[in-house]
Amino acid sequence: MRVLVFNAGSSSLKFGLFDGDRQILKGSFDRFREGGCDVAIDGHRGRAPHGDLAAAIAAVPGVLAERGHAAIDAVGHRFAHGGPDFTGPALIDEAVIAAIEAQTPLAPLHNPAMLQAMHLARSLWPDLPQVAVFDTSFHLTNPARATTYAVPAAWRAAGLRRYGFHGTSHKYVAHRAAEALGRPLTDLRIVSVHLGNGASACAVQFGASMDSSMGMTPLEGLVMGTRSGDVDPGAFGFLHRQLGLDIPAIEAALYAESGLKALAGSSDMRDVEDRAASGDPEAQLAINLYAYRARKYIGAYAAAMGGLDAVVFTGGIGENSASMRRRICDGMGFLGLMLDEDLNRAPDLTDRKAPQIQAQGSRVAVIVTETAEQLMIARELRELLARPRPVPHPVPRAIPVAVSGRHVHLTVDAVAALFGPGYRLTEAAPLRQPGNWVAAERIALEGPKGRLERVAILGPLRPRVQIEVSRTDSFALGLDAPVRDSGQLDGTPRVRLIGPAGVLDSDGLIVAARHIHTNPADAAAMGLADGDMVDVEVQGGGSRGLVFGRTLVRVSPQAVTEMHIDTDEANAAGIAGGAEGALAQDIQARPVA
Ligand code: ADP
Repeated sequence: MRVLVFNAGSSSLKFGLFDGDRQILKGSFDRFREGGCDVAIDGHRGRAPHGDLAAAIAAVPGVLAERGHAAIDAVGHRFAHGGPDFTGPALIDEAVIAAIEAQTPLAPLHNPAMLQAMHLARSLWPDLPQVAVFDTSFHLTNPARATTYAVPAAWRAAGLRRYGFHGTSHKYVAHRAAEALGRPLTDLRIVSVHLGNGASACAVQFGASMDSSMGMTPLEGLVMGTRSGDVDPGAFGFLHRQLGLDIPAIEAALYAESGLKALAGSSDMRDVEDRAASGDPEAQLAINLYAYRARKYIGAYAAAMGGLDAVVFTGGIGENSASMRRRICDGMGFLGLMLDEDLNRAPDLTDRKAPQIQAQGSRVAVIVTETAEQLMIARELRELLARPRPVPHPVPRAIPVAVSGRHVHLTVDAVAALFGPGYRLTEAAPLRQPGNWVAAERIALEGPKGRLERVAILGPLRPRVQIEVSRTDSFALGLDAPVRDSGQLDGTPRVRLIGPAGVLDSDGLIVAARHIHTNPADAAAMGLADGDMVDVEVQGGGSRGLVFGRTLVRVSPQAVTEMHIDTDEANAAGIAGGAEGALAQDIQARPVA
C-alpha cells in the first residue's frame, strides 16, 4: 500500500511517500513568501514558485507523477491537536472534520494549516481514504493528576487541561527503543526526549504515555528553539504592569521570540553551540539552561514512574548533538545512568538504527534514534485501514459484571511471613474464573493514614505479591495506588500486610484497571481481540447506569466471560449485587499493541 503523508504548517509543507515501511519519496516546501519558497525533494534543494500552502499542495501530484509515483492508495495527515476524544487515528469523513474543526481553539497556530491541507488533499484525491493522526492521542492515557492544572473549576470546565504533543514521535521512538533492547515495551519505563525546534520529554510507562512536558499548548516544558518552555504564570501580570504588554503580545513572544533565540540570538542549536565554543557567555548560558531543564524532566519522570529503564534521544538536537546528550546525562549516575563517551560521540543512525550509548554497567539504557513521525503516521493509517474493525457496533451480548472487593494475591514467602512457616491457606470457595479461589483466612492492610481489616486473600499463590484496592481504599490507607493492569507492579507503593503470625511490608499496591476476562470463542462472537479497549455500558440498580470507557479485553483459553470492576466503580454505577454490561461503542485499539 502506497501512503502519502502530509505534515502541513503555516510556513512549510513536509510530505513523504511510503510503500509499507519503505520511504520512497521525501519532500518539503519551506519558507513560503511572496513569489516562491524553498523546495527539497529527496535531498535535492532548489526554489519553487509556490507562495503559500495551497499552491504547494497543488504541486504535489506533479512531483509524484514526475517520479513515477502517481498511483497512491491513501493519504495520511498529521494533526497537532485532537482534543480529548481522538485516542487514535481517524478515517476522515464529515463528522471527523467537524470534530477536528471544533478543536481549533486548542491549537490556533497549528490545526488550521493542517485542516487546509486536508481539505485540499480531499479535493485532489476525492476517492482515496484519508486518515488523521493526532500528536495528542498518545498522551490521552495520562492520568488525571498529570493532565489537571490546579486552577478554578470554571477554567477546567472550559477545557483547560494538559494534553502533551509530539505523541507520534514519542510513541515511535519508545517502540524503537524497546525493539533495540529486545524487551517488550510493556515491561519498560522510558523517558523519551525529543529535542528538535520544538522539544518535549515524555514518560512512557509500560508502553503508555503517563506524562509529557508539553501541556495545554506546546509552550510548556523544555526550552525550545523559539519557545520558552516553563514560565511562572505570574509573569503575565508582571509583564502587563511593568511593560504594558497585552496577552497576544506576550503569547506571540513566548512562541516566537523566546527559547534559544531569546537567550543566544539564534534558534539553531548548531549556531548556539558554535558561539558557546568561541566563548560567548550568552550562548553558554543557553546551553546550560537547555540541558538543565531536560535533566530535571528526566529526573522528575524517573520519580513519577517509580524507576527508569531507558532514556531515548531523538529530534535534530537529540540525534546530532553529542555534547547536548552528554550535558543532559552528566550527573545522572545516582539513577544508574552513565554514558559511554565513545559510543555517544558518533552513533550510527542510518537505516533507522537505534544504537545504545550507555556505559558498561549502566543500569539505565541510553538510546539514540531518528524520529520518524511520517513513517509512524503511514503505519497507523495502514493499521487503521487493515483492521476488520472498528466495528461500528460490536455484536451486543450481555457481559456479567463482577465487583472485586479489596483483596491480595500472596506468594509462598508472604504466606509464611503472615501465617507462619509451612502454613497452607484454606480454599473456602471457588471463584468464577476456573482454578481461582478465595481463602478462608483474612489479613489487614496498614498504611500511613489508616488500616483496612479483613482483607480477602485470593488463590492460587503467585510469584509476586499484588494488593488490589479501590481508589477510596488507597486514600484510607494514605497511599497513592496507581491504576495498573494485573502483574504490572514495578514502582508501586509499599503497604504493610498484617497476619496472625507476623507482618510483611510489600510493594504491589494497585487499583486494578477494569477489564473483561473472556475466552477465544466468546471474544470472536463479540468481535473482540485480546488487548482491545472497549466501552461497556453497565445498568446498575435504579437509574445510575454508567458507560465505563477504556475497558481492557483480556482473552485467555480458560477464562469465563466476565467484567471486573472495583467497589468505587460499582458504587458510581449503583451496582449492589451482580449486573450486566453491554459493549457500548466502537472498539478502540489499545494504546500499545
Ligand atoms: P523540527 O522540530 O522542526 O523537525 P529538527 O528535529 O530538525 O526540527 O531539529 C532542529 C534542531 O536540530 C535545530 O536546533 C538544529 O540546530 C539542531 N541540529 C541539527 N543538527 C545538529 C548538530 N549536528 N548539532 C547540534 N544541533 C543540531
